[in-house]
Amino acid sequence: MKGKDYLSEAKKAYSPLNAIEEAARCLLCHDAPCSKACPAGTNPEKFIRSIRFRNVKGAVETIRTANILGAACARVCPYDKLCEEACSRTGIDRPIDIGGLQRYAMDFERASGMKVLEAPAAALEKVAVIGSGPAGLAAAAGLALKGYKVTVFEAREQAGGWLTYGIVPARLPQDVVDYEVQYVKDLGVEFRMNTRVGKDVTLAALEAEGFEAFCVTVGLQGSATLDIPGLALSGVTTAAAFLAEAKPSCGALQVPSDVVVVGGGDVAMDCATTAKELGAKKVTIVYRRTVEEMPANKAELEYANKLGVSILPSFKPVEVIGENGAVKAFKAVGLDWLDRNTSVEVPESSIQLKAGLVIQAIGQTAEDVSFAGLGANSKGLAAADAETGKTSIGNVFAAGDIVNGGKTVVEAVARGKASAEAIDAYLSSVRESKATDKEVAAQKEGVR
Ligand SMILES: Cc1cc2nc3c(=O)[nH]c(=O)nc-3n(C[C@H](O)[C@H](O)[C@H](O)COP(=O)(O)OP(=O)(O)OC[C@H]3O[C@@H](n4cnc5c(N)ncnc54)[C@H](O)[C@@H]3O)c2cc1C
Ligand code: SF4
Repeated sequence: MKGKDYLSEAKKAYSPLNAIEEAARCLLCHDAPCSKACPAGTNPEKFIRSIRFRNVKGAVETIRTANILGAACARVCPYDKLCEEACSRTGIDRPIDIGGLQRYAMDFERASGMKVLEAPAAALEKVAVIGSGPAGLAAAAGLALKGYKVTVFEAREQAGGWLTYGIVPARLPQDVVDYEVQYVKDLGVEFRMNTRVGKDVTLAALEAEGFEAFCVTVGLQGSATLDIPGLALSGVTTAAAFLAEAKPSCGALQVPSDVVVVGGGDVAMDCATTAKELGAKKVTIVYRRTVEEMPANKAELEYANKLGVSILPSFKPVEVIGENGAVKAFKAVGLDWLDRNTSVEVPESSIQLKAGLVIQAIGQTAEDVSFAGLGANSKGLAAADAETGKTSIGNVFAAGDIVNGGKTVVEAVARGKASAEAIDAYLSSVRESKATDKEVAAQKEGVR
């Protein structure tokens, strides 16, 4: 039963009747602010109109053409900060449930076995995509749809990046990720798993194998850690390590009864709710600032509250206390915020929480991209154009978290798509100049 709770999706799906009813609330705005607010250009106004007029196939076409991860994004997008925030209906009562309707169309596609995208025969150059997260999958799909021979190289055993190893099943069941990865495979994209580029194979070796362009989408796999005593104790972990163990365990991971999570973002919420769903009795989130300042999505915060997670705002971690090499308690001290940037400790508010597990959810750190010959900026991120992914090396492009420092799935999809366009433009120009060189050589040959 414990495992079932952890694996089941939290939000309920629409029935056909309810989906049409919700779509009928849409004002069909002429200027469609919702569509302008989607980074991937998914065009909610158009697909909601299709659902409203019972043309679900049309809705599927609109979503899939714009977003190869339409089903994943339907579940994990921060709609309240993107299209739903922009929705004109908000001024009347509440925004259209754009995420729910997108999920309805995507579930319909899968249930009916519909495939709206087909790639041409792969006759163009070989392109290597390094990393199989949202940015890599979007870049690979975009290139395959243009006729390139695409191979994705992935260090881990399973594809999907944080979709597979991070985002919890309550929001994103693994079968949804697997379905979309298969969609990309069906476009003719090859996957080489358990292959870390830079370690198991070099870029030079891939060039020798005939790859003519590279898209680096390696994301942020490292974890930021606290600077307090006791971090070496067993039972102190990071969000990335905890979630990467919890999700593949399908609910079987054992957690102690008292868990402390440090952080205030979506990842901290995911850790806290996961620990609860796996059976922890008391889960406490310790956050430096106020609840209002938590960067976590409102819905995630509400879900954590619903599960009984306690939140300790304005507290600063001080020490992890151990016994026989394992975590026993977590010490924090209250902060009095004078203004947004300065705070003073309030020593008399020091608190000690019983803990068998301490999870640090305070951010991810960038992968080293020197294997691709790329420079990094002061934050360790790949030096690349934020829009197109172009780098100082002509045939190397970069996209997703490794360039933007960690945003959202839909943003990674958008940047992966844009990189596919930039790679196509680059390879097309190389092809054209080779053709011109050949023509000139042939003309010279004729003159002689
Ligand atoms: C726990 C968690 C929860 C999140 N929840 C949400 C959410 O609810 N909504 C949302 O929109 N966003 C969420 N995000 C953010 C979102 O998941 C990321 O922005 C997105 O996954 C970035 O995609 P990416 O392709 O750039 O990188 P990643 O998803 O990190 O994928 C990179 C891939 O590259 C592989 N790789 C790394 N180095 C190499 C190498 N040298 N060779 C081969 N492969 C390599 C990695 O193994 C990984 O599979 C969450 C992130 C985390 C960590
Ligand atoms: S902004 Fe809202 S009401 Fe207007 S078209 Fe988009 S979803 Fe419909």
